[in-house]
Amino acid sequence: MKPHRLTLTNHLVINYDLHRKLNMYQPRRATEQEILDFHAADYIDFLKRVTPDNAQSFTKLFQRFNVGDDCPIFDGMYDFCATYAGATIEASRKLINEDTDIAVNWSGGLHHAKKSEASGFCYVNDIVLGILNLLRYFPRILYIDIDIHHGDGVQEAFYTTDRVMTVSFHKYNGEFFPGTGDMKEIGSGLGKYFSVNVPLRDGIDDDSYIWLFKQVMQQVIDTFQPSAIVLQCGADSLGCDRLGVFNLSIEAHGECVRFIKSFRIPLLVLGGGGYTVRNVARCWTYETSILVDTELSNDLPPNAYIEFFAPDYQLHPHLSGKLENQNDKRYLQQVKQAVFEQLRYLQGAPSIQMQEIPPDILGYLEEGDEERRHGQEDSQAGRDSKDMGGRVEKEGEWYDAEDDQDREREQDGFGDVNIAD
Ligand SMILES: [Zn+2]
Repeated sequence: MKPHRLTLTNHLVINYDLHRKLNMYQPRRATEQEILDFHAADYIDFLKRVTPDNAQSFTKLFQRFNVGDDCPIFDGMYDFCATYAGATIEASRKLINEDTDIAVNWSGGLHHAKKSEASGFCYVNDIVLGILNLLRYFPRILYIDIDIHHGDGVQEAFYTTDRVMTVSFHKYNGEFFPGTGDMKEIGSGLGKYFSVNVPLRDGIDDDSYIWLFKQVMQQVIDTFQPSAIVLQCGADSLGCDRLGVFNLSIEAHGECVRFIKSFRIPLLVLGGGGYTVRNVARCWTYETSILVDTELSNDLPPNAYIEFFAPDYQLHPHLSGKLENQNDKRYLQQVKQAVFEQLRYLQGAPSIQMQEIPPDILGYLEEGDEERRHGQEDSQAGRDSKDMGGRVEKEGEWYDAEDDQDREREQDGFGDVNIAD
């Protein structure tokens, strides 16, 4: 499995020289034990064992685990999952260790996967695994999802807890995939009011989206006072997306990232959906530049894949105005009011105080140090670093146009960004 949009993103990031402003790491694979922190053992056992060649003998399980049409079986599927999940877990670990303020994994953000079920081309939910890890250290995590689809897998995983607030902006009419995301889904038990849904109609434009996003997120952050934020940046909310129905420009999508970054709260940034590949790469490159406070020329730099960006060869093509905006001012006000009403029930941040560091975190932090030492040794030793999440020391280790088709999966790693004060 070699997602082309990540190759394109890497080429743009590197040819814009953004890699000089961040630390890049080869992702380490998630261990089975780490994946089992959320997923059911029988489901993971199935993912590990099934291949296109032996799929026949597993057909009885296809329905149970929801694989088939939207979630096909392909060669190296488990490896693919362990790689993107490992990068998200490692990114969360770097935030916990205070190695960085912002960590990015564009290969992550697979928000539909459930405990025992694949969904919408998501098999393992790296976001849930990352948040579970963050909860070992941070008292309150805010999850924000700007993919055009509802972040159902993450919402479901944390539906009954007040330690994670989920906020999803998405197209909703009850039918659009995955069918959930009504405003009435607010959480339950201890988690009541901690799931926020912002349902939108077709064609939402830049001004409407940014206005609503900032109104809602300012209120959410003031109320919930998160200690860390996870931001899923699915790019299928852009205009002209092959599966999307919104009208957003890359600037507007990026403005959401800029706004969340401005709160200066430890931030984990993830990818997600996005089906017009060249625009996904443009969007995530632009958002990388925002995270490292760098302005980019609108003219794309020469790179091996430049022809994919014809005919304009620009970072910001015109994507807006293709669909009529069905979200009028009245509707937007109604949605805002309803979210504000819900937040009023929270009455200030929940009472979870920063507790004594739980006993398991102490061993965990030492373990992290140990791993980091190994990672450095391996990096010096060369190519073995990929399994350890080792830092990429030499530019050539990251980028080699000659054999990048073979190494693409290894390159789906995350950059780690330090905010410059
Ligand atoms: Zn999506």
